[in-house]
Amino acid sequence: MAWDTPLADRVKNLKPSPTLAVDAKAKALKAQGIDIVNLSAGEPDFDTPDHIKEAAIKAIKEGFTKYTPVGGIAELKDAILAKMKRHYGLEYTPEQVLVSTGGKQGLYNVIQAMVNPGDEVIVPVPYWVSYPAIIELAGGIPVFLPSEASTNFAIDMERLKALVNSKTKAIILNSPSNPTGAVYDTETLRAVAEFAVEKGFYIITDDIYDEIRFDGKGPENPASVLPEAKDHVIVANGVSKTYAMTGWRIGYLAGPNPVIKAATKIQSQSTSNANSIAQKAAASALSGPQDCVARMVEAFRQRRDYIVDRLNGMEGISCPMPQGAFYVFPDLSAFSGSRAGGKTISTSLDMADYLLEEAKIACVPGIAFGDDRFIRFSYATDPKIIEEGMNRLEEALKKLEK
Ligand SMILES: *Cc1c(COP(=O)(O)O)cnc(C)c1O
Repeated sequence: MAWDTPLADRVKNLKPSPTLAVDAKAKALKAQGIDIVNLSAGEPDFDTPDHIKEAAIKAIKEGFTKYTPVGGIAELKDAILAKMKRHYGLEYTPEQVLVSTGGKQGLYNVIQAMVNPGDEVIVPVPYWVSYPAIIELAGGIPVFLPSEASTNFAIDMERLKALVNSKTKAIILNSPSNPTGAVYDTETLRAVAEFAVEKGFYIITDDIYDEIRFDGKGPENPASVLPEAKDHVIVANGVSKTYAMTGWRIGYLAGPNPVIKAATKIQSQSTSNANSIAQKAAASALSGPQDCVARMVEAFRQRRDYIVDRLNGMEGISCPMPQGAFYVFPDLSAFSGSRAGGKTISTSLDMADYLLEEAKIACVPGIAFGDDRFIRFSYATDPKIIEEGMNRLEEALKKLEK
């Protein structure tokens, strides 16, 4: 008799990522030898800088291969404290920092540490794909705050105020944003921080793209613009994006003692310390020469200028100018209802499917981020590939019939 594997409700209710369908299809086509232009990458295409690799090699050779303190090694915590001071003017103690296995685990731990079943967490839309799932895995309820491309995806304070109630535990901010590349301005950060203090909720600020900015300004978050709000702010960050270190899996949290202590307790009973060698590499990334960052940011800026220009030159597309990260998030809703072959394109998933099948472009449908009007293209790839992708996109869109 077949055993119908009994699984936990939390897994049954966990929605599979809508990006998986496109990703699986792209991989299958690639395996058949089909030339796919991949504009779906969520990571820098650059290699990790050499001096960072050297620090890891040295750590291995010196036998730095044992358990470390759960919250991270002192050397890395010191480098994180120095970064928080250098970029945000914020002072933390080592106890107010937790090093985790990627920025994602930091977010997971902090939500596990603060959210009770039934608690609400406000998530501005478009959102990073994992926020709703991480909240739901803690029994929390994601409450969505819509935004518009016409205001560069700004937070509408009136709408936010209408969503906050006694169950509101936190809001998650992500600036620069994945998927939009939008950056919240100082006034918005201050307004949200003031409101969090007034109403007594937390701000989780996902600052993973903080140094990938094109507006000439340095990193900012709600605690740096309103130091009185510091006890309400939990910073989530990491080395993955800034230093092209996604595979090394080092992220961190900084925030008030009780929250960090609780998040550390969660980590102590699940994964313990982050990889010892990668911690040494991350310390070298944060405290070593920073010109590698400037070079990568400049390359991203040039690609952004190119891709935004190409997209806005296409009939029916409108693409806001991103101020950070390495994604563009154009509105393709003008093509909704158009037809190709026998098929009608009604959703962003239909569009992503069409682009994959017709133009062999892999991209992520906006619905993955909560807004069906858009498509996310990553420009963290070779400029020649971006150019080829834009040529193919232009051709494919011309073939659509209204
Ligand atoms: C990439 C990313 C992260 C964290 O990535 P890690 O590889 O886990 O450090 C967090 N938030 C956003 C929005 C991201 O795009």
